[in-house]
Amino acid sequence: MKQVRCIGLTGGIGSGKSTVASMFSELGVPVLDLDQLGNAVTEPGSEGLKHLVQVFGAWILHADGSLHRKALADHCFADADRTALLNSIVHPLIWQREAEWLGWQHCKYALIEASVLLESGGASRMDQVVVVLTDESIRLQRVLKRGRHDAAQFRQIIARQCDDATRHRLADYLIDNNGDLMSLRKQVRRLHEQLQASAGG
Ligand code: ADP
Repeated sequence: MKQVRCIGLTGGIGSGKSTVASMFSELGVPVLDLDQLGNAVTEPGSEGLKHLVQVFGAWILHADGSLHRKALADHCFADADRTALLNSIVHPLIWQREAEWLGWQHCKYALIEASVLLESGGASRMDQVVVVLTDESIRLQRVLKRGRHDAAQFRQIIARQCDDATRHRLADYLIDNNGDLMSLRKQVRRLHEQLQASAGG
């Protein structure tokens, strides 16, 4: 059975990726958030979390039994082998849930939103990729205003993400989010029409 056309949506921290995802969702496009899914497959009681504890040890858990994501991330990010091990456990679980979700969609296309789609090689599972591009200085301002990260955390995160030249190279469609929300919405509408038209049917 032919699966729904699968469009990846990505962009650096603060680029406006989640804002774009909600605008598509308001237009009736199904959106799957892979970052959230990554958390879901390692929630307490999951096979994913049990497997992680077997491999890394119980120190990766908070006292309440939930995953200490930051401790595990700090343990893995500086070490390529540990990162590969972590990914080898979590990625197949995410891919399986993603495939199930795509199987449930009956529409012209569906969006998969993921912050590290390009860095993780996930773009190869997508039919096409949309990248939200925003200048770093504007991203920093918006992230600080959003209030979840400080400037040092922003720098740490962008150091692990790919640069704009790579994003340009790997994108099939670009959204420029240096302007206001009205300009963003206009681009989303135009792209939605384009994606619907090119999906045929
Ligand atoms: P990401 O998911 O890429 O990290 P968000 O969509 O959360 O980024 O956007 C970062 C912050 O910037 C959010 O608080 C969002 O409301 C705000 N934002 C996004 N686009 C714009 C825009 N065009 N103008 C003003 N604020 C914006």
